[in-house]
Amino acid sequence: MTRCTRFLGMTMTLVLVLFSTPAKPAQDDTAGTVLITGANRGIGLALARRFVAGGYHVIGTARSPEQAKTLEATGARVEQLDVSKQASVNALAERLDGLAIDILINNAGITGHGAESFAALEVDRLDNVLDVNTLGPMRVMQALLPHLRRADGGILANISSMMGSMELNTWGCCYGYRASKAALNAVTRSLALDHADQGLVFVVLHPGYVKTDMNDGRGNITPEQSAAGLFDVITGLEAVDNGRFYDWRGEELPW
Ligand code: NDP
Repeated sequence: MTRCTRFLGMTMTLVLVLFSTPAKPAQDDTAGTVLITGANRGIGLALARRFVAGGYHVIGTARSPEQAKTLEATGARVEQLDVSKQASVNALAERLDGLAIDILINNAGITGHGAESFAALEVDRLDNVLDVNTLGPMRVMQALLPHLRRADGGILANISSMMGSMELNTWGCCYGYRASKAALNAVTRSLALDHADQGLVFVVLHPGYVKTDMNDGRGNITPEQSAAGLFDVITGLEAVDNGRFYDWRGEELPW
């Protein structure tokens, strides 16, 4: 073979490779797509920053996107979502129609009504915390499961709390909040079992005791420390982790 024919052969091969490889969607240039609810402040915002830094395409949701300037500045795509409103959840799912979501992080949450004692508790005021912390993630998971199925092995990470653990409840209190997170744990466990054969991984995660607005800045770690740990835990999840409860350092917690 002459040098000229070898050159021509190599050129033909290069042309064939270039034209036979389908153009990759922009999404493929990233580590994957992650959707984080309640991403405009606190742990959600820190998670958005961490996932952007990790090369992910981040969709961060906020109840008031026009005010979510800090979230926007992270490079995340900002989407409106109020998890307590089914219409808002449906509208988000429609806007994201056709998109594959690799990781869904249900982070939005509230402490809700609390009282000094059980006697002083206004039970009728607990519907809000259950609505946001338990029914909210359920609405979001139901609406976005088709998007997760489009990905190769979708992960559904629900930010719960050690306050939702029966075994770790050694000091009482916080009826509404504990009930909402315990219920979220129960829901996640059922989803994990019901979808065990579909390649999806459902987990609940305790983010640590984090200095955010939720606890008026008390806590023993920063949102950035929590998000760094959660990022490692979430991106390291495998099929064997389906239906488990971990903290931000990857330690397994009892139900
Ligand atoms: P923050 O109060 O700092 O942030 C809560 C986020 O949830 C905000 O973005 C808020 O949006 C959003 N949110 C509230 N209600 C809704 C709703 N109806 N629809 C959509 N978004 C909503 O809390 P943290 O960052 O501390 O908490 C994040 C998660 O971590 C929660 O699920 C919490 O229970 C959990 N957690 C936190 C701990 C901690 O020590 N901080 C400990 C254990 C668990 P907006 O700005 O519009 O109100």
